[in-house]
Amino acid sequence: AALAAIKERDKEVNAFITVDEEGAMKRAGEVQRLIDAGELSGPLAGVPIAVKDNICTKGLKTTCASKILYNFVPTYDAEAAANLEKAGLVIIGKTNMDEFAMGSTTETSYFGVTRNPWNADHVPGGSSGGSCAAVAAGEVPCALGSDTGGSIRQPSSFCGVTGMKPTYGTVSRYGLIAYGSSLDQIGPVGRDVTDCAALLQVIASYDSKDSTSVRLEDYDFMNALKNDCGGMRIGIPREYFGEGLNPEVKEKILSAAELLRANGAQVEEFDLGMLEYAIPAYYVIASAEASSNLERFDGVKYGYRAEDYEGLHDMYKCSRSEGFGPEVKRRIMLGSFVLSSGYYDAYYLKALRTKALIKKAFDSAFARYDLILAPAAPTTAPKLGESLSDPIQMYLGDIYTVSVNLAGLPGITVPCGADSTGLPVGMQMIGDCFSEKTLLQAAYTYE
Ligand code: GLN
Repeated sequence: AALAAIKERDKEVNAFITVDEEGAMKRAGEVQRLIDAGELSGPLAGVPIAVKDNICTKGLKTTCASKILYNFVPTYDAEAAANLEKAGLVIIGKTNMDEFAMGSTTETSYFGVTRNPWNADHVPGGSSGGSCAAVAAGEVPCALGSDTGGSIRQPSSFCGVTGMKPTYGTVSRYGLIAYGSSLDQIGPVGRDVTDCAALLQVIASYDSKDSTSVRLEDYDFMNALKNDCGGMRIGIPREYFGEGLNPEVKEKILSAAELLRANGAQVEEFDLGMLEYAIPAYYVIASAEASSNLERFDGVKYGYRAEDYEGLHDMYKCSRSEGFGPEVKRRIMLGSFVLSSGYYDAYYLKALRTKALIKKAFDSAFARYDLILAPAAPTTAPKLGESLSDPIQMYLGDIYTVSVNLAGLPGITVPCGADSTGLPVGMQMIGDCFSEKTLLQAAYTYE
């Protein structure tokens, strides 16, 4: 059914870079046999899933939506992908994204843009736009995305699906092609909170292959799904609802807050602070880490290699010049600049200090509140092409999501209505580190 839905709808949506029809059918047969033999059970056994194309899948092309990896076939599975296999999910294919997860619209992909299933003239958001659009279009029931600065939560908001960024360390980053290693986290995208909880339960695991992986005391996220937010303390940061937030988005989120209050939550406004420093700190740190992480793509061992060059250094230069798109080059240059001697203290170190202050602001908020309610993005999905011409404007759209990554916190986006043109609006709930269960419970109660 998923393959048929993809055939019917994906010509327009373009959520997939690769559809593995043969592999998926074979795997589905194997899973069925295991289920029949009583060797495999669990809520997601046999369920088809799409995986973002920056998550390595053994034997299945993994491009990061970049020309430089257009032919890369990993010889190993990312830990999260291996966990899907163990639980009996069937990987249907790999989804479109912004090149190397750098972007907010899925327009910087080498493989063409993905369109928003609610209105094909609009973007699906990004960078996990393919994963969110595939779920929104009904092509697959669930998907994996990755979130470095909002790439699960923002496209979930634009596509009207539920998506979660877990606490840093909860899902192994082994086999996730790195963008900003201190910020990257894989997470679930689904039609509702239950699907996300079930999927998180599958992908979250301690993994010694990821040095930042954390062993949790409890991996049973499904048992957090209680319809009760009585007594929960919810904080609404005033500055998140000020200038720059589209009034229709604001109205939807504040009425969602009212609904939670009506169900027994204590909701109040407060000043979180530090919001104006989030974007500059994030773009300095993310670009710095990206410039270092992307050094490995040089045309030597795998990926694209230029055809015409003279000698080794020219081969690197031509392969990288031809293989990376403009947004990725911009980040590599920005990142190399802020890390270079003479500018390191002024930019990179300052950004790290700012990151620590942002974490502190959240720490004091979570001394008073169980969770924070915020928008996921200042607007609903923009029109295709609008953001490409003005990268700074695109960066500013990440204002409500990036601090969560800088502080390592979990966040979930839940649909909470639509604007007057019918485009979805999502609300973001942010929790303290490892408070996924509280977040899931509140989101489930709201939904
Ligand atoms: N839009 C942000 C960026 O371009 C976030 C991307 C992400 O979370 N991968 O960096």
